[in-house]
Order: sequence, then C-alpha cells, then structure tokens
Amino acid sequence: MPVSARPKVLVVFGTRPEAIKLFPVIRALEEVGGIRTVTCVTAQHRGLLDQVLGIAGLTPDIDLDLMEPGQSLDRLTARLLVGLGEVIDRVAPDRVVVQGDTATAMVGALAAYYRKIPVAHVEAGLRSGDIHHPWPEEVNRRIVAPIADLHFAPTETAAAALARESVTDGVHVTGNTVIDALHWTRGRIAREPALAAGLDDLAQRFAGRRIVLVTTHRRENFGDGMASIARGIARIAARDDVAVLFPMHPNPNVGAVMDRLLGEADNVARIAPLDYPHFIRALGMCDLALTDSGGVQEEAPALGKPVLVMRDTTERPEGVVAGTARLIGTDEDRIVSEVFTLLDDKAAHSAMARAHNPFGDGMASTRIARIVADGFGL
Ligand code: UDP
Repeated sequence: MPVSARPKVLVVFGTRPEAIKLFPVIRALEEVGGIRTVTCVTAQHRGLLDQVLGIAGLTPDIDLDLMEPGQSLDRLTARLLVGLGEVIDRVAPDRVVVQGDTATAMVGALAAYYRKIPVAHVEAGLRSGDIHHPWPEEVNRRIVAPIADLHFAPTETAAAALARESVTDGVHVTGNTVIDALHWTRGRIAREPALAAGLDDLAQRFAGRRIVLVTTHRRENFGDGMASIARGIARIAARDDVAVLFPMHPNPNVGAVMDRLLGEADNVARIAPLDYPHFIRALGMCDLALTDSGGVQEEAPALGKPVLVMRDTTERPEGVVAGTARLIGTDEDRIVSEVFTLLDDKAAHSAMARAHNPFGDGMASTRIARIVADGFGL
C-alpha cells in the first residue's frame, strides 16, 4: 500500500503516565503494518514526559510544548483545544488515540469530536465515583466516554463501569498497557543493567534497612493532606531500621511542604523524579510502596509489592479486592500505623505481597493495535 493511502492514526499525549502507557501502543501500531502513526505531545508536563520519551526511544512528530509554570486549568485547557485542533486539521487523521484522564486526553477527544474524527480511548472506564477525587481527572475521563467509539478497558470492572453509563458498543477488555511497559522495561534492565545503575549507591547506603518507597502528587492532597503525609513520613523515618526512598514530584506544592516538615536525614533520600527504568528498579528494591499515584497502584501488585494508597477512593479497585493494595487516606496516624504493621507483622506483609497482575498480562497493546487495524479492514 502506498504510504499516502495508509490510514493515519494520531496519538496524542502530554504527561509521564500517558507516555508510559502509550509507548507500547505506538510500537504495536507500527508493528501491525499498514497504519501510519503520527505522534503529538502537548508537553503538559515537560520534564517528566521527556524522561519517558528518551527511554522509549520516541521522537514525537509534533511537539506543542504547552507547559507553563503555574498555568491554570482554564488556560491549559484553552491552549490545548486551540493547539490540538490545529494539529488535527493539519494532520487530517482517520482516528485519534488518547489515554487516560488528563486534560490532554479530554481535550484531544473533544477536538477530534468537533471534526467528527473517531476517537479510541486507552484505559477507558476507570471511575472512582466521586467527581472531586481525583480532581479533575474523574471528569476528564468521563467526558471522553461518550465521544470515543473504541474503549480499551483494562479490566472487566472498567468495562462494567462503562456499561453503567450505557457505553457498551466498541468496548474491549484488553488489560492495562502499563503492564506491557513494565515487562518491556524490566527486560531491558535485565539486558542492560546500566539503564538503572544510578541507584547503585542508594542500594548500598540502604542495605540492611527496610525500604519504603514514597510518591505523592495528587492535587486533592495539596495543603493539609500533604502536610499530614510529610509528618507521617517523618515519623516512619525516625526508625533506624527503615529507609525512605522518595522520588519527589517537581510540583512546588510537594517540595515546599516536605522541606518544612520532613527535613533531611541519613535514611531519607528525597531525590529528583526517577526515569522509568530507575523507578521500576526502586519498586523492586522496596518492602512496600506508599503512594497516591494511579500507575504505581497498577505496577506494585505486578511486582508483588504491598501498596498503601494515600487516598480515600480509587478508580483501580482491583488491587484492593485482590488484597495487594489498601486505601489508607492521608491521616498521619493511619499512615504510620499501616506502614508499621507491614514492617513489623510478617504475616500481614506476606498476605499483601503476592505477585499477580489484576491489571493485565503484558499483551494489551498488541490487542489494541489489532482492533484498531481491524477497524480499517487491515
Ligand atoms: N514514575 C516514574 N518515576 C518516578 C515516579 C513514578 O517513572 O519518579 C512512573 C510510575 O512507574 C508510573 C507513573 O510514573 O508508571 C505514574 O505517574 P504519576 O504518579 O505521575 O501519575 P498517575 O499514575 O497518578 O496518573
């Protein structure tokens, strides 16, 4: 087929988690044959996105470079709509692919809809049931649902959530592509340990201690929640058999509070965000993860690591149901007692530390690419 006659798929993304979950899809679309893939990044999060592009060997075809420090959601949304609308007009794709629940995903779907171009939604059907948690992601992803004609639900639970909103046509349960990214990255680290060797010194420094891996960045935890998290971590770090490994999100709402309430200590490594291979190694090194991240809730169970989720609701109940994740909120005392239980009670730790993959088998991207190709009769 001549290049110009190939159906064109525009893949749009803007943040670290979208890049992690889409790079396997982009590869699979390229491998399926007959499709021309055009990638557009909005760079809603510049530095964290670029880390993933580098490791995945991806050079976007179009880079809107829309990040501005302290940008309001209004301004971001408006600039995304104008920018992505122009990209879609120029590229004239036969389909647009978006992922998850970011402003980029929501606006990418909307801009395609305004031009009557079909939209495929990767990681469709996640719902916490509360429009304020996570905010504004719960509404972002709900807006994509009635627009998309292909919904790649990671699990049966996600497909059922779509069915409750009367979205049943074009729903495919594929697994979550984050597990594909995880497998691919672990394979690469096994072949090229240098890819994650930046943690060698820390691994040595923390040898013999129980490692608690911490990440936190949710908007709804900024303020009181973040202060409570910081005080909780400080109390955990007061134990000399424990080390805290904390790759810190660059959002100033996190750093300022941690500077004030957590401070410095030998057994606390507050470090810059890790690139994906280093983060996966960190997850492998830890005894448990303490996080408010969505992606980490999916990756930790796949590696058999207990994950304590510093939120009151989750759109990823599969880990909680399977017993590898626990919702603990942001109360300082609760954080401390849940972490201490896992550190001190072997049985409690092993009950949560069962490696299994409720979120997928590593083949989600291949399934997605096949379904997209089928849609073009390829
Ligand atoms: N991650 C990473 N480096 C870090 C922290 C997280 O590569 O220092 C990865 C992590 O493995 C997961 C993703 O980033 O796949 C999660 O991103 P984030 O927590 O920012 O967003 P969420 O998943 O909550 O939308």
